[in-house]
Amino acid sequence: MEPLFLTPYFRPKLWGGRKLATIFHYHIPEGKVGEAWIISGYKDDASAVSQGPFAGQPLRTIYLTHPELFGYPKSAEFPLLVKFLDANDNLSVQVHPDDHYAHEVEHDRGKTESWYVLQADPGAYLIYGHNAKTKAELTAMVKAGDWDHLLRKVPVKAGDFFYVPAGTIHALTKGILVIETQQSSDVTYRLYDYDRVDDATGQKRLLHTQKSLDVTKVPHVDAKLAHPVVQETGATITTLAAPPQSAHFYLWEVQVAGAWQTGLGKHPYLLVSVIAGAGELVLAGQAYPLAIGTNLIVPNGAESFIFKGHLKLIMSAPGPKE
Ligand code: ZN
Repeated sequence: MEPLFLTPYFRPKLWGGRKLATIFHYHIPEGKVGEAWIISGYKDDASAVSQGPFAGQPLRTIYLTHPELFGYPKSAEFPLLVKFLDANDNLSVQVHPDDHYAHEVEHDRGKTESWYVLQADPGAYLIYGHNAKTKAELTAMVKAGDWDHLLRKVPVKAGDFFYVPAGTIHALTKGILVIETQQSSDVTYRLYDYDRVDDATGQKRLLHTQKSLDVTKVPHVDAKLAHPVVQETGATITTLAAPPQSAHFYLWEVQVAGAWQTGLGKHPYLLVSVIAGAGELVLAGQAYPLAIGTNLIVPNGAESFIFKGHLKLIMSAPGPKE
């Protein structure tokens, strides 16, 4: 019985910066980074196990060949995807389809995602939702390029949490670092890209205007999730997302101070990312060091385990739809 420690899969992005190297001490080549897929079983973009009997194997392979570690799951593919995103420039304004549309049109999962803000420059904002009241109004504003009136800008600071259901227009903007927990999918419809021209091609990037209009929910409604806080010996646990509002994943922020003994409870396995501090995880009599940037899965069958030290964790588990 060992935790599955994972090495990130990096995706260079034009809008990326270097914070993933400086904050999380990841060894990444010079240049812009943008995305670290820290817990990923998505196709060829999977993170790999860094130590133990499965060292070097992609998470996707282990999920397929060792279902017992995941409680014999019903999802054929690893259902969740966790990323660090370092926005050093504005990302394109986008929207994701729900499961039904994605299965029909893209043969992939839909994408509901969430952002927990790790850092935000003073004055930073993100785009979340829109101001159109009807589909006709949305279509007219998009066709007219009336982005200033259409897009909702929301100020952000470290510690903020945003639940972004499929069908929500959204974008990260310059100066924001988040940990993103989402359905394992890569279906993105680009609605607006600030009319930027790609240096490499001399062309504007492709937009998916009709698909974006098809899947955008009108009117926009802010997701209302409760965030109950529970105090246990050695930890303060804040629920960020849970069913029934969040059907695809449970999500928690956990502040560990001292020693927190816990277990899987009703969950088949847990995804854990260390976003601050240092300490260790004790599982089956073995102690494993933890530091900022460490990512792991506690597999099925782990009865009881202890997080020690001063740690800030983002933890998740698959929801009832997965
Ligand atoms: Zn997105």
